[in-house]
Amino acid sequence: METENNVFNDFANICVEPPDIRDKCSQCQRPQSVCWCPALPKVPLNPKTRLIILQHPAEEKRCLRTAPMLKLGLANERCVIFKALNL
Ligand SMILES: [Zn+2]
Repeated sequence: METENNVFNDFANICVEPPDIRDKCSQCQRPQSVCWCPALPKVPLNPKTRLIILQHPAEEKRCLRTAPMLKLGLANERCVIFKALNL
């Protein structure tokens, strides 16, 4: 009975979330080995127009992360990303 309790306790202490194996960049959220932040402009670009990206939620799962790259390369409020199923 004691062994059975130990087994249940071991299962109860298993972390539900998978461990984060690789260190990620705090800015682009990509693994450090493929971080593209050094390629961003030193001074964010400030175009006269505002860019609006309409993104399907399924696109966000793809790891290209080009929309966040664009947003990080532009000055504040120059790029807005909307995510919705029915655009
Ligand atoms: Zn980065």
